[in-house]
Amino acid sequence: LLTATGAFLYVTQTQNSPPEQLPTDTKKPTLVVLGSGWGATSFLKQLDTEEFNVVVISPRNYFLFTPLLPSVTVGTLEPRSIIQPTRYITRHKKRKVDVYEAEAQEVDPVKKTVTFQDLSDVRGAAGSVTIPYDYLVYAVGCENQTFGIKGVNEHACFLKELSDADKIRTKLMDCIETAAFRDQPQDEIDRLMHMVVVGGGPTGVEYAGELHDFLIDDLKKWYPEVAERLRITLIEALPNVLPAFSKQLIQYTESTFAENKIDVLTRTMVKDVKESSVVVQDANKQMKEIPYGLLVWATGNTSRQITRDLMSKLSSVQTQRRGLLVDDYLSLLGADGVYAVGDCTATSYAPTAQVASQQGIYLASIFQKLGQKAKYEQQLAELRATNASPEEIEGTIKKLNRAAKLTPFHYSHQGSLAYIGSEKAIADLPLFNGNVASGGGAAMLFWRSAYVSTLYSVRNRTLVLADWAKVKIFGRDVSR
Ligand code: NAD
Repeated sequence: LLTATGAFLYVTQTQNSPPEQLPTDTKKPTLVVLGSGWGATSFLKQLDTEEFNVVVISPRNYFLFTPLLPSVTVGTLEPRSIIQPTRYITRHKKRKVDVYEAEAQEVDPVKKTVTFQDLSDVRGAAGSVTIPYDYLVYAVGCENQTFGIKGVNEHACFLKELSDADKIRTKLMDCIETAAFRDQPQDEIDRLMHMVVVGGGPTGVEYAGELHDFLIDDLKKWYPEVAERLRITLIEALPNVLPAFSKQLIQYTESTFAENKIDVLTRTMVKDVKESSVVVQDANKQMKEIPYGLLVWATGNTSRQITRDLMSKLSSVQTQRRGLLVDDYLSLLGADGVYAVGDCTATSYAPTAQVASQQGIYLASIFQKLGQKAKYEQQLAELRATNASPEEIEGTIKKLNRAAKLTPFHYSHQGSLAYIGSEKAIADLPLFNGNVASGGGAAMLFWRSAYVSTLYSVRNRTLVLADWAKVKIFGRDVSR
């Protein structure tokens, strides 16, 4: 144990020591990275910064491990256990990286500039700045889809950012406390204790599962007077939940939800959102009003404003509303030096964390080659200027040709996982040339170990494991 602790301290201390990074070099090209999500972070992790001056711009200065976000809404995990500062990655790079917490507002693909703004409200906030780029890695993700339905932004909670999970947790506890307040009318208790989730994709399903666990494991103990009144309803426009999963796993999820008394309303579409009820059109085209206490909106994603603006600037080639079009090397169609990864793109792959992170890793290899190419070009010019031997020149030309050879991006699907509550998960895995669909406790263990091993740092892994242990021993913290 002492050795392990010693090794751990050694690792953390050496990681904390100030890095001896190369300074900015004006002769090297400027590479601007927009974003700090899955695509940008996996790119930065792999990137060799020696040949570039790298600037990272993102409205949040950390990476959020989104697959575990639903667990934060009910206190299974603490918020800080699933985030990692972006500087945690950049401070170990060979050449110094500039990281700005700011929102990119405009990309000019002709002048090759990015305009970004400091959004903080402290005194002295920097305002708006425009900088030039030689290369741009565009990884801004997307925003919540509302389909323009009235009242969603005002009354519903999304589940995308860390602040969303916090807001859901607060609102949930507010509903429960108010329901438990003395002399509440019965129908008001029922409304307050009705938690409605819109969207039966993985986000909505995982949230409903976590909420169920909170009810069974904790609410029944802490709020016996109202816990029995809690109802969870999942509303989905399509005939079934989780359309991207196999039939068997859809059935497994639906029957688990039935056992857990989670009402699933399929073929039901939310049309309007009011302050304390949603208006839906059911399978028989009848309009109904459903009262709710908490409403979680998880109907998928759409392009951000900055992406739509970029598309319109490149409208002759950027013709997909769903997202940006890129070639096989993730280079943005119609722009010079711009690459795009992740949810902001429209490719043949689903917009998932797995795709974005593989694209980020791939793109880092492209930049490795771009860096080598620039280096060998310079070497070649110097060799020619100094009348070097033909062998030396030939050798460098060979290296240059190797660096110029690129292979297209190839996505390798590792499977899909989702937590569905009551210690059960579903796993759709492409193994042994076939699909293995599994649900239940074994899948749950797999879900846990897969997510823990995908967490980027030892620190995050330790925190997540400790949170799980804490909940097992003490239960969830029900304070607001
Ligand atoms: P999604 O797009 O997968 O699902 C949204 C669902 O909302 C759809 O099934 C849609 O039919 C439904 N919907 C839309 N409008 C509606 C309305 N007005 N009324 C009722 N239902 C409506 O969204 P998501 O779950 O946020 O996932 C987004 C992406 O992220 C997907 O690609 C998903 O695969 C991925 N993801 C994966 C995981 C995982 O694998 N565990 C977890 C979260 C997200």
